[in-house]
Amino acid sequence: MFSLLSLIISLLYSTTKSFVVINGDINHQKPYYISSKISDKHKLWIMDAMSIVEPFNMLYTQEYFSNDCIRIHYSTLRYTGFTDFNGYLLSNNKWVIDKISIGINPNIDVYNAFISIILHELLHSVGLMHSDVQNSIMNMSIYVVNGAVSDVEYPFLHQDDIAGLLELSE
Ligand SMILES: [Zn+2]
Repeated sequence: MFSLLSLIISLLYSTTKSFVVINGDINHQKPYYISSKISDKHKLWIMDAMSIVEPFNMLYTQEYFSNDCIRIHYSTLRYTGFTDFNGYLLSNNKWVIDKISIGINPNIDVYNAFISIILHELLHSVGLMHSDVQNSIMNMSIYVVNGAVSDVEYPFLHQDDIAGLLELSE
């Protein structure tokens, strides 16, 4: 009975890959600069998304652009958004990240979808990678349906995202 239970547990774990944190170091203290080209409406939505991560004390903004900030800007390179990492790989297989920028598609006009996507990118920028856990923000399959951005029912952190953030903020 005991071995059957552990088999079921290991099967559960093998089918659901939960949160992954970056293998390396990210400086959480870099401020975010929101490009002046971003509309006032989207700016407010970005601030809403940031306030969801705020309890983890990782994010703050600055009004001006500098080389030492994480820039959030418009880009149509993806239907959704993306996070660019610049850095290098150490010989011990760990990343050192020295520059991060976030692109967000300007055509996303649905509040929940926009919040979920920018939240996803913000979590990338603090070091969370993709997760297979359904309905987690870091599950990348929930945003695009038939080539269009879908509405998202719950633009909030999932327990899996929270577990990842807690590991990062340790
Ligand atoms: Zn992603």
